[in-house]
Amino acid sequence: MSDHPHVTIIGAGIIGINCAIALLKTGCKVTVIDRLPPGEGCSFGNAGLLAASAYEPLASPSTMLEVPGWLLNPESPLVIRWRHFPRLLPWLMRYGLAGMFGGGVKVEDALYHLMAPSVEYYQQLAAEAGAPDLVKAGGALYAFSSLKKIEAERAGFEARRKRGFRVTELSAHEMFEHEPHLSRHYKGGFLANDYAHVINPGRMVTSLADYACRLGAVIEQADILDIEIGTNGPTHLVTDTGKREIDRLVIAAGAYSHQLTAKLGDKLPLETERGYHVTIENPGVMPTVPVMDDVLKAWVTPMEMGLRCAGTVELADLESPPSEKRQEMLVRLAKRMVPDIDTSNYTGWMGRRPTLPDSVPVIGPATSFTNVFYAFGHQHLGLTGAPATGRLVAQLVNGEIPNFDISAYRANRF
Ligand SMILES: Cc1cc2nc3c(=O)[nH]c(=O)nc-3n(C[C@H](O)[C@H](O)[C@H](O)COP(=O)(O)OP(=O)(O)OC[C@H]3O[C@@H](n4cnc5c(N)ncnc54)[C@H](O)[C@@H]3O)c2cc1C
Repeated sequence: MSDHPHVTIIGAGIIGINCAIALLKTGCKVTVIDRLPPGEGCSFGNAGLLAASAYEPLASPSTMLEVPGWLLNPESPLVIRWRHFPRLLPWLMRYGLAGMFGGGVKVEDALYHLMAPSVEYYQQLAAEAGAPDLVKAGGALYAFSSLKKIEAERAGFEARRKRGFRVTELSAHEMFEHEPHLSRHYKGGFLANDYAHVINPGRMVTSLADYACRLGAVIEQADILDIEIGTNGPTHLVTDTGKREIDRLVIAAGAYSHQLTAKLGDKLPLETERGYHVTIENPGVMPTVPVMDDVLKAWVTPMEMGLRCAGTVELADLESPPSEKRQEMLVRLAKRMVPDIDTSNYTGWMGRRPTLPDSVPVIGPATSFTNVFYAFGHQHLGLTGAPATGRLVAQLVNGEIPNFDISAYRANRF
């Protein structure tokens, strides 16, 4: 490996831009290519959570037991557009099996290493980028509408404590003291004290992209159509604006990454968990920290643009049109959670979460080519896991050996 390779990154989302910054800091030259301006993919509209202690995969035995009920209810956290069901079936089976039997400590460790340092990394990055206001510490609240559910969730939060995270159980009274505008139908909750939130995820990506440019990155707009392979591996990207020579390549193309890895012989089971947000402008009142509803598993997050209600999963395909009904459902949810808000002005959005069946991203070299690296599949936690992913990619591109086991992220595990 030469001392300062030139690295081309496909994808200017939160993952690609974090890879760019980490690589630039090691002395690499970096070009980022995206068909959209930075931060206009999935990273634009997430719920803003830096979920530092969310190391448990979302697909768990308890979630799997709830899935049949959700699928029969159009106003649930999960919907499937049934005409896509035959294509989705193999992925769903793998996802279900991973949920039922789990990856155990190995999967939890793989997620832990990405999530745990997120708040510290973002505070540092946002300060370096000149936008320290973007990160708000203070935790996030899981609110529950029944005492039975609180009982059921207690062990999970206790496990987080055992991993060294801070979690405070709040009675209903304590919760309403913390969040006076929250609906009185909640019976109590858990404050994940180590969480923080980003008050504008889109501005986080553009601020970091500007910072990457100040560090020397070149960001170009082009659609990558193909990858040309020579005798020693990939040599050129074929784009809608011409061919580009490549030295090292990082694929961080979010939910579209599998289309590119397939050209390199890695057929990866990446699916799209489509999620929605509504951002309510001038809501009147807002909670002070993000709050999750236990029924729809969606968050309301106080942001600089207003109150964002975001979450839910819709399984369809990449290009199916967004559903207005899902957006309207989120507006109703926000009103149910924070009854005093004014919901008359809101904007809606749909984003494509990139998800692999075991909930663990692919980070590391391509199976057959040593000059190509992957960084995608961060599902519900890509904002949180992006800085640690960027650092890991920079280590791998520079031929360094990370100080923890990264085998859970490998591309050839499927
Ligand atoms: C509703 C919702 C709420 C969420 N809430 C949270 C949260 O609170 N906390 C959290 O940590 N995560 C959250 N997430 C998840 C998080 O947003 C994603 O995991 C993350 O944005 C993925 O980032 P990415 O860079 O991989 O993908 P993207 O942001 O989608 O970036 C990929 C980029 O690649 C480009 N691209 C793809 N193919 C090509 C090609 N062929 N040529 C050129 N360019 C290409 C795309 O244009 C895109 O810009 C949420 C997601 C959703 C949908």
